[in-house]
Amino acid sequence: MRGNGLGHHNPVMVKKVIPVADRRYASAVPAIPARPIAPSGMLVDSLGRPLRDLRISVTDRCNFRCSYCMPKAVFDPSYEFLPQGSLLSFEEITRLARLFAAHGVRKIRLTGGEPLLRKGIEELVRLLSGLRTPDGRPIDLTLTTNASLLAKKAQALRDAGLQRVTVSLDALDDAVFRRMNDVDFPVADVLKGIEAAERAGLGPIKVNMVVKRGSNDSEILPMAAHFRHTNVVLRFIEYMDVGASNGWRMDEVLPSAEVIARIDAMFPLEPLPANEPGETAQRWRYGDGAGEIGVISSVTQAFCHDCNRARLSTEGKLFLCLFATHGHDLRTLLRGGASDLEMASAIGLVWQQRGDRYSELRATGGLAAAGLDETAPRRVEMHYIGG
Ligand code: SAM
Ligand code: SF4
Ligand code: SF4
Repeated sequence: MRGNGLGHHNPVMVKKVIPVADRRYASAVPAIPARPIAPSGMLVDSLGRPLRDLRISVTDRCNFRCSYCMPKAVFDPSYEFLPQGSLLSFEEITRLARLFAAHGVRKIRLTGGEPLLRKGIEELVRLLSGLRTPDGRPIDLTLTTNASLLAKKAQALRDAGLQRVTVSLDALDDAVFRRMNDVDFPVADVLKGIEAAERAGLGPIKVNMVVKRGSNDSEILPMAAHFRHTNVVLRFIEYMDVGASNGWRMDEVLPSAEVIARIDAMFPLEPLPANEPGETAQRWRYGDGAGEIGVISSVTQAFCHDCNRARLSTEGKLFLCLFATHGHDLRTLLRGGASDLEMASAIGLVWQQRGDRYSELRATGGLAAAGLDETAPRRVEMHYIGG
C-alpha cells in the first residue's frame, strides 16, 4: 500500500454500511474493505467495464422546466431542493474527483440541474483543471448547460480551464423552444451563448437535442440545416424513461433510426466509426462535407455493454447507472474523516461490484426479474444526478 500517494490504511474511523434514511433516494454508506484497493487506473466492474467517465452534478436546481426532465407539475414552487449544507463543497468535489482520476477516470463532465447556476462554478473548474490521469495527462474537462447564462460566463469558464461545452437546445423555432423549456426562454439567447462559447474557444461545441415525438420532432430538419457547415456537432437524443416524474411513454420516443432516415432523405449521410470505446453517440457525417451529427439511442439500442460512466450527485452520492434506485453515500465517508486510501478503497469496491445494465434489461424484457420494474424503489431524477 505504500507509495501510492494516498496515505495509509487507517481502519475503523468510519463505520461500515450504515443504511441512511434519505428523504429523496435510498442510499447507504459504502463499506471500506478490509483489504485496501489502491488506485491503479485499471479498475473494472463485475462485467469487465472500466471506470473512465465521471459526471458531477453541482446543483439540483434549474431555471428551465423541460417537460422531459423537470415538469412544472412536479417541480413547482413548493418543491424542496437540497439545502445549501447538503451540497458538496468545491474542495470535497475536487478531492473525490482526484480519487476517481487515480482509479482511471479520464473525462469529467459538470452538470446538474443547471451547472452555471452554482455560485462560483469557475472556481470549481479551476480546481478540477489541475487534475491529472495516472499517466500525467490533463483530465478532459467539460460541462453541459442550457446556455441561459453562457454568454455571460463563457470567457471566465475558459480562463478557469474549461475545455469544451455541450449545449442543450431542443428547437430553433422560438415558440416550440419556449414550450419545451416551459419558462418562456427565447432561443436567440441560447444561440448567443453558443456564439460566446465559440469565441472563447470552448469548442468543438456539441448541441444536444432531446427528441420528443409530437412535441419537437418537426424541428429535426431545421436544426440539422442550421448547424450544417458549422463546427457544432448536433446530437439527437432519444427521450428516456429516467426518473419518475416525466410521465414517459414509449409512443413519444422517436427512434434514432427514424431521425437518421429523415435527415438522410434531405441531406445524405454516411456512418462514421466511434472515436473511442464507451462513446454514447453513433456518429454520422454529411456526404457533401457539411459536418458531423450524432444520435444517442438510449432506448432503442442499449449501450450498457461498454458503459464506463459514474455519476456523483450534488450531495455526494455515487450512482452507477442513470436508472439506479440507490446511491452510495460518499459524503458521509468524506465528512467522517476517511483517509484518501479508505475513500479510494470504498469507491473501488463499489465499482468492482457494479453490474448495472438497465437499458439492456429493458430491451430484453429482464427488468422484472432484476427487480427493476415499476415495483422497484423510486428511481433517481435526471436533474439530481445530471445527464
Ligand atoms: N441543465 C443542463 C442542460 O440541460 O444541458 C444540464 C443537465 S441536463 C439533466 C443534461 C442533459 O440531459 C440535457 O442534454 C438534457 O436534454 C438531457 N435530458 C434530461 N432529461 C432527459 C430525458 N428524459 N431523456 C433524454 N435526455 C434527457
Ligand atoms: Fe434544466 Fe437541463 Fe433538466 Fe432542462 S434538461 S430542466 S435545462 S436540468
Ligand atoms: Fe450505463 Fe445504465 Fe445507461 Fe446502461 S442504462 S448505458 S448501465 S447508465
